[in-house]
Amino acid sequence: MKFYVLTTFPEMIEYIASVSILGRAQKTGDIEIIPINIRDYTNDPHKKTDDYPYGGGAGMLMTPQPVYDAWEAVTKKAGHSIRTIYLTPQAKVFTQSDAVSYAKEEDLILLCGHYEGIDERALEEVVTDYVSIGDYVLTGGELASMVLIDAISRMVPGVLSNSDSGKDESFSEGLLEYPQYTRPAVWRGKAVPEILLSGHHENVAKWRKEQAIERTRQRRPDLLEDTNESSADCPEDAIPGKLSEFDK
Ligand code: SAM
Repeated sequence: MKFYVLTTFPEMIEYIASVSILGRAQKTGDIEIIPINIRDYTNDPHKKTDDYPYGGGAGMLMTPQPVYDAWEAVTKKAGHSIRTIYLTPQAKVFTQSDAVSYAKEEDLILLCGHYEGIDERALEEVVTDYVSIGDYVLTGGELASMVLIDAISRMVPGVLSNSDSGKDESFSEGLLEYPQYTRPAVWRGKAVPEILLSGHHENVAKWRKEQAIERTRQRRPDLLEDTNESSADCPEDAIPGKLSEFDK
């Protein structure tokens, strides 16, 4: 899958894209992250990509010409229309199910605003999807675009080394993930829950499900309203605010 990131700060994208799982996935060819410098497309003799907003007000606004020309160059080279996401606080907040759905695309364009944002006419010409990463305001869309790319890439087949590890985790079934433990079996006097050492896969799966429901109930009860988990599935002590034996 290809991600084209339209930005005036390509170096912000390059580093994150080059390390850890994203870096490895680029080497194996499962994904490609291509920063496009909007500044390379400006017709302004001083390479400007921003100007004062009409009507006054604080800050600068990105001008429409270089944004449109950069976007047009990408789509022309690709030879087909590409879903184009504008990262903005003025949109519905991105979720795990959006990541799963975007991962089915062959390619995506992510458009990063800066300063006060982008001239509305350019957005009207190129944007298909408006996406926010949360109800707060960032200085630019670069970090937000990398949040989307990271979450979407994990859902692209081949990117995660264990193909199951993207399924059995928080939000995959509308629940937060159960608590996890690794070696040593006892640390600072705290023992790993015995059931995890039992080797009994069915009981481990049942315990994990109960813990996932309990954790969700304690930390994100709003998620349970959207799932089919009935109270019959819950462990006896799975009540909001109460810790299980294993959490103590
Ligand atoms: N003036 C804009 C407003 O009030 O909606 C905010 C502009 S913000 C300072 C600059 C850029 O950061 C935006 O154009 C957008 O690309 C990005 N940005 C800021 N907050 C974001 C968020 N919560 N989610 C996604 N992108 C965001």
